[in-house]
Amino acid sequence: MPTYTPPLRDMQFVMHELLNVVDELKMLPAHADIDADTINAVLEEGGKFCAEVIAPLNLSGDAEGCKLDKTTHEVTPPKGFKEAYKQYVEGGWPALSCDPAYGGQGLPVLVNQGMYEMMNSANQAWTMYPGLSHGAYEALHAHGTPEQKSTYLTKLTSGEWTGTMCLTEPHCGTDLGLLRTKAEPQADGTYKITGAKIFISAGEHDLAANIVHLVLARLPDAPAGSKGISLFIVPKFLVNADGTLGARNGIFCAGLEHKMGIHANSTCQMVLEGAIGTMVGEPNKGLAAMFVMMNAARLGVGNQSLGLTEVAYQNAAAYAKDRIQMRALSGPKAPDKAADPIIVHPDVRKMLLTARAYAEGGRALSTYVALQLDKALSSDDEDERKECEAEVALLTPIIKAFLTDNGWIATSHCMQVFGGHGFIHEWGMEQFVRDARINMIYEGTNTIQSLDLLGRKVLGNNGATLKKFGKKIASFVEEEGTSEAMQEFINPLADLGDKVTKLTTEIGMKAFQNPDEVGAAAVDYLRVVGHLCFAYFFARSAKIALEKQGSGDPFYTAKLHTARFYFAKLLPETASLIRTARAGLQPLMAMDEALF
Ligand SMILES: Cc1cc2nc3c(=O)[nH]c(=O)nc-3n(C[C@H](O)[C@H](O)[C@H](O)COP(=O)(O)OP(=O)(O)OC[C@H]3O[C@@H](n4cnc5c(N)ncnc54)[C@H](O)[C@@H]3O)c2cc1C
Repeated sequence: MPTYTPPLRDMQFVMHELLNVVDELKMLPAHADIDADTINAVLEEGGKFCAEVIAPLNLSGDAEGCKLDKTTHEVTPPKGFKEAYKQYVEGGWPALSCDPAYGGQGLPVLVNQGMYEMMNSANQAWTMYPGLSHGAYEALHAHGTPEQKSTYLTKLTSGEWTGTMCLTEPHCGTDLGLLRTKAEPQADGTYKITGAKIFISAGEHDLAANIVHLVLARLPDAPAGSKGISLFIVPKFLVNADGTLGARNGIFCAGLEHKMGIHANSTCQMVLEGAIGTMVGEPNKGLAAMFVMMNAARLGVGNQSLGLTEVAYQNAAAYAKDRIQMRALSGPKAPDKAADPIIVHPDVRKMLLTARAYAEGGRALSTYVALQLDKALSSDDEDERKECEAEVALLTPIIKAFLTDNGWIATSHCMQVFGGHGFIHEWGMEQFVRDARINMIYEGTNTIQSLDLLGRKVLGNNGATLKKFGKKIASFVEEEGTSEAMQEFINPLADLGDKVTKLTTEIGMKAFQNPDEVGAAAVDYLRVVGHLCFAYFFARSAKIALEKQGSGDPFYTAKLHTARFYFAKLLPETASLIRTARAGLQPLMAMDEALF
């Protein structure tokens, strides 16, 4: 069975040495009293919950899966899940970064982000039960009426109730404009909602007393397409005026999907038969409200793969030091043993270092974005709020797609380190690979993320937000440009920054002629910009590691080696990505459809 040790040292490095989050957070009125000890203590305690309570349920949960009783429509998650959830709620974990006005602890988003990374490492399928609640909380916090907030937010904050997002229908996934679920207005101001949703994560379970479904549906007079979609709260149990639970609402789980991974999370086919709902936000503007939840969920999905990358790396590194096979080509390294540990073989090291670099780079980028989110939510300077919001919007598709693509590569490499044993269930490595695969698909496929990045977030505003982010990189390059020790990091970073600028302009020009050029280049483009972000944070990390190398703390030596590996072996991928992005539309569209 795999083991998990919360990566507290690297989290502390990223927060307190790389990003100086406490200084930044203290500028925000909501976090004026925050200090490093509080952040560290919360994450240390949270790490214990992850390692001791939910990690031991990961393998068994995968083997057991969820069960649906077709007569009662009740779903039972695997053994131990309900008890672990009770412990999670009693520990106050759901409330970590929620608004104190609704019973939250008001801690920064980045603390919650760290907690969720560890939860995802320990047990992604379990984590999705509370994980979706957080997105529902954010959508209602941003768009709910005072009455909706007082009814639902305290219960979601405490974890007594969980949330879902119900968008997908059998004929409509990416293109939500096609959705058919109907909402009929009632005389009392509520709506009767009828339709079928599929693939609804945590759609039914017995972990919490009530489930708050956020459902997209159409009003009878709604215009066609995505401009005719409204958002509704549809609770599993209706809520009485005094907040107690009332009658069972007409929303049921009709089936569970049989799927490749995350077996322990219930992926439900949901049927709505005149279910009673209340509208969130304005009629026909439901997608805007739902986008709050979707953006939170996109960052959350990137974090799922970060968690899996970390745990897969930890187990593969331990295995590689223990497993002996063959001798090093340069001669025995463990002559007292019958063979050398496989960690002496260069390619095993390449696989391990790839996963390690993707985990460390992903952690730095995710924590940076969480800090920008804290500023966007809590700064008292409107300009700063807007600037941070724009930066979070720019980097969200990169976190979602780059980290999940990396997670797939990393978990697959780590499984490979185990050889045949990696393919066997008991070791847990094949589960990480299977679980990681969905992260590239849901919450908008990674292709859709790349179109969002290049089409909307970059070309959509003439590259203005990207240029602002680029200026941060350029000023670091300028500061460190004369440091000889930093040349190995600064030169490739500066070079990639220039190449991204040129590539963006070139695709922008082509897109004027034919908008399909964006679709032809976007996936490669996102990966290039993802590498630019990682290179920036690895270069900054290397600077700190170089300064502190003499301290004798091996952490800094390892950080420096990882940064060097990243620049030498992973970043060069951008050369071929830029080439394929520039190859454009023609090789993709030239072949007639009939020939496929
Ligand atoms: C385990 C699991 C859990 C899920 N949980 C939820 C949930 O909780 N709530 C929910 O509402 N949904 C959920 N989903 C649904 C998920 O978000 C969708 O599957 C996903 O958004 C893709 O939609 P689709 O499956 O209909 O694929 P389609 O939209 O049919 O796409 C098929 C392919 O076409 C590509 N494509 C589509 N349009 C374009 C385009 N314009 N340009 C380029 N390529 C394009 C896609 O990238 C994809 O590769 C879940 C799915 C799974 C499998």
